Amino acid sequence: MSLYALFVIICLPCFYYWRFPLVANIDWYSFALEFIMALTILACVHFLRLDKKTYTSNQFLYVGFSLLFTALLADTLDEIFLPSALVTILLEKLFQITGFIVVLLGIRLWLINQKQQKKSLVELATTDPLTGCFTRRYFVDKAQALFDSERGFSLLLMDIDHFKKINDNYGHSTGDTALVELTKLIKKHIRKDDLLARWGGEEFFLLLPDTEQPCAFERANKLRKLLEEKVIDYPAGQFQMTMSIGLAEKSPEVADLASLFELADQNLYRAKDRGRNQVVG
Ligand code: GH3
Ligand code: MG
Ligand code: MG
Repeated sequence: MSLYALFVIICLPCFYYWRFPLVANIDWYSFALEFIMALTILACVHFLRLDKKTYTSNQFLYVGFSLLFTALLADTLDEIFLPSALVTILLEKLFQITGFIVVLLGIRLWLINQKQQKKSLVELATTDPLTGCFTRRYFVDKAQALFDSERGFSLLLMDIDHFKKINDNYGHSTGDTALVELTKLIKKHIRKDDLLARWGGEEFFLLLPDTEQPCAFERANKLRKLLEEKVIDYPAGQFQMTMSIGLAEKSPEVADLASLFELADQNLYRAKDRGRNQVVG
């Protein structure tokens, strides 16, 4: 129990006993009901005390419920004693009003907190921390929904050429920079509806809704050329890189999403086999 609650439980009845006369007939029924209410609020104070260091909202709730507890205990003691009007106004009315306002602020803060937490959890679950691209799981869910719908789309599976050499020659952190730069470049040239996901290591999937093969091929080639021309800075100098792209379009011949992924992968493999830095599909 909090020190404040303990202080109130001990001191308030003693103060009433010392200062005020007893009522002629004690209404034990009202006394019991009000006492139970006070205990309920005391339980809230107790639970919040355990967690009040974590959030500002809990501190507000803790203070608000402590004030309400004081007001309710004073209200309970009213059934036994006859307090002065000043004490009634101060302890019951003022503490009650202030308590409710502080609790209201606490609830508002708590709701804002919850919303922010939910947002950051969703962000954690759906985006890759290094590149900010969507995660594989999120991408598969979205692609599946689109595959099941009437809308057509194309998929580009992009893979950096000889990425291992970038890591070996310039260091792993420069490899990370390369991944971030590639992502930035792609994001700069995609539409609002396009979905970019990090499939794994240095492989990225780009989903182009309402895009048929010829247009998707053109867009893939444009991205490939942009990367080819891009000069990337790293602490000891500059380097360039290329990527190969496998293209696959949703069509009646493709039975399911897994087969479409497989088709993009096969085309990527062909692009690598034919000498890299090209689009196949
Ligand atoms: P290819 O042209 O055939 O695609 O050759 P590659 O070297 O790009 O492909 P390979 O699959 O042999 O190597 C991929 C490398 O990517 C190996 C792995 O260490 C590296 N890698 C995977 N994830 C990360 C990452 O998050 N950061 C960095 N820096 N490297 C990564
Ligand atoms: Mg590669
Ligand atoms: Mg790879």
